[in-house]
Amino acid sequence: MSDRFFPWTFDTAETGEKTPEENVVSDWEAAAESTSDEVPIPHLAAVGSKITLQVGEQTFITTATTLTEESGFFSSLLSGRWDNTQPDGSYFIDADPDLFKHILRYLRRGVLPIFYDSGKGHDHALYLALLEEAKYFQIPRLEEWLGGKAYIRAVKVTRTVIEKEGVDDLDEITDADVDITLFPSWTTRKVYVCPRDIVVHRGNPRACGRACKRVQGDADDEYVEEPLLRTVMVRRRIFLDREACTEGR
Ligand SMILES: [Zn+2]
Repeated sequence: MSDRFFPWTFDTAETGEKTPEENVVSDWEAAAESTSDEVPIPHLAAVGSKITLQVGEQTFITTATTLTEESGFFSSLLSGRWDNTQPDGSYFIDADPDLFKHILRYLRRGVLPIFYDSGKGHDHALYLALLEEAKYFQIPRLEEWLGGKAYIRAVKVTRTVIEKEGVDDLDEITDADVDITLFPSWTTRKVYVCPRDIVVHRGNPRACGRACKRVQGDADDEYVEEPLLRTVMVRRRIFLDREACTEGR
């Protein structure tokens, strides 16, 4: 049994950049100093710097510090009051590993999660599922973030509406956080025509000089209707408010 889980202990992808040994030992010493009248928890020391969790069919390696800092559930589980480890020394957690990885990511870095896709918006199903986990693992800050839908204000969208005529300037290269929606429509416009049909006078009566006026005589100015493409361009930019995800810790 122990062989099956032991190699995971050295999986750096799971343990992240922290040096778990240092964290646990320093916290351990701090705890020993501040609560010198209390008996230190022998169980944590016995387990060592790393904690192995079996969540559903997956194994996660982390530290006691990471787990207990914010989670009431893990503080209780790792308190050493009960011997609740499996024969291989790991703890079995009856939870969905796909959700648990978000819980662990939060416990490791304290960054409140945002599940947002510029096409689909917020992933409310995932927020709801994770809220249940936050309650189960007793993590108040995460529960507040999810239950109070505070993540909504962490993603901001600005919209700019621009109206354009013709087909020029419709091509635009934008950053990936900007998307542009075009609403084209055909319309017509009246265009002044020069009595002498001089092209550069077209559309501009003031361009016509005396020679044009002589040809026009007493007739009214002449206009023709021309088709015109009018496009309403909606430019949407998505902002992610990183501070909202890290404040209050
Ligand atoms: Zn003219």
